Amino acid sequence: MLHLLCGQDPVELGIKTYEGWNITAFLDHLDSCEKCAKSKETLIGELNSIIGGGPQS
Ligand SMILES: [Zn+2]
Repeated sequence: MLHLLCGQDPVELGIKTYEGWNITAFLDHLDSCEKCAKSKETLIGELNSIIGGGPQS
């Protein structure tokens, strides 16, 4: 599970849904959340590895 620095629940934020991860909601949160914005690159890397992607094109 992705660990948001602000401690909020990705499910409650609509970032993780029953269909999978909502990247748009995730990026919106990074832009609007002071705590997560500081570790934006780390969190994006974490999500990429959760999604199981290799390098994203
Ligand atoms: Zn946050």
